[in-house]
Amino acid sequence: MDILTNIDVIRQDFPILTQRVHNRPLVYLDNAATTQKPWSVIQKIEEGYTKQNANVHRGVHFLSQMATEAHEAARVTVQQFLGAAHAHEIIFTRGTTESINLVAASFGETFLKQGDEVIVSEMEHHSNIVPWQLLQQRKGIIIKVIPFNEAGELDLQAYASLFSDRTKLVAVNHVSNVLGTINPVQQIIQIAHHNNVPVLIDGAQSVPHIAVNVQELDADFYVFSGHKIYGPTGIGVLYGKEKWLDAMVPYQGGGEMIAQVSFEKTTFNELPYKFEAGTPDFIGSTALAEAIRYVQNIGMDQIAAYETYLLNYATDKLQQLGDVRFFGTSSHKSAVISMQVGNIHHYDMGTLLDKLGIALRTGHHCAQPIMQHFGIEGTLRASFALYNTTQEIDALVAGIQRVKQLF
Ligand code: PMP
Repeated sequence: MDILTNIDVIRQDFPILTQRVHNRPLVYLDNAATTQKPWSVIQKIEEGYTKQNANVHRGVHFLSQMATEAHEAARVTVQQFLGAAHAHEIIFTRGTTESINLVAASFGETFLKQGDEVIVSEMEHHSNIVPWQLLQQRKGIIIKVIPFNEAGELDLQAYASLFSDRTKLVAVNHVSNVLGTINPVQQIIQIAHHNNVPVLIDGAQSVPHIAVNVQELDADFYVFSGHKIYGPTGIGVLYGKEKWLDAMVPYQGGGEMIAQVSFEKTTFNELPYKFEAGTPDFIGSTALAEAIRYVQNIGMDQIAAYETYLLNYATDKLQQLGDVRFFGTSSHKSAVISMQVGNIHHYDMGTLLDKLGIALRTGHHCAQPIMQHFGIEGTLRASFALYNTTQEIDALVAGIQRVKQLF
């Protein structure tokens, strides 16, 4: 579907967008933090609770079977969306953060010993740094860091030189939530595999914006959050290759994840249930599948092209202001703009723009090492989604001009 010619219809799918904030039309440009939800997703959640709420995998009764079928169908929707080989390679989690913690805990427990090395990058979200640091404290592993250049692009030569015979995993994001850089993950994976090292890709900022195929990438683990792709909060995905998931010890213990329990010996369930202890978010999974259908109906390539159009339009207009410093200027970028306007503090700018109904993110964006790289405390960040418009970008630019006059 061509988004530009259908933008009015698309915006009607998102009820929150008609809201007024401080008596002005809402201009929502904080999509990297979370996205708004279309009616179809909201209705799916309502339908889950009004028509098919019963615990999954347990009951012989009608409702339980319906709920189970819907939950398992959602897994297949995610599998096909990511291009995974098997539905049982899709583990439902609470989100990107839990997916990475799961891999750090289970892969870490199974495969990592003191002195082993994990490679991450300087542009990771805290959720792809701290779980490895916790493992460092528990097991004495070593964390190595791929640096990035002034444009916000990873230094692949430095990366290739980080490998040693103790390297056990590479964990990098596909798209940076601060710099917007689309990292060359296919090349990153090839280099790692050449060294016999598996790779985890944090897809929190890629899956909602560009087409992803985990088999084409040959990713070993790929993770994302439902709420950043127009789905509900509290549900996310860990894709893992069967060979790794099979070999890894469970993450949490409880119901669902067992085959047989006695006080003498407990055996674990098969994939994916081995990693899904307790009652899963079966309403969230079906609503996430609905969100995936929503973006598939529009088309991931159309979404990527439209968001690139918004990115170019916004970058041009902001550049014309004359005193905007951009953080992240790669030519291979997703629709995220981190900036500093003159010497106006990002927090002041964000607060005053909010008074004009414009929602932006300010601060370190959970990526403090990026701030340390540039020697700054934080940035003002505008991040776009498929429902944003050039008129909203005009409103942002006019808003920034107004705040500048105030100062
Ligand atoms: N990684 C990246 C690149 C992100 O942008 C985010 C969210 N800002 C996360 C991980 C964490 O996602 P969540 O909070 O949904 O677990």
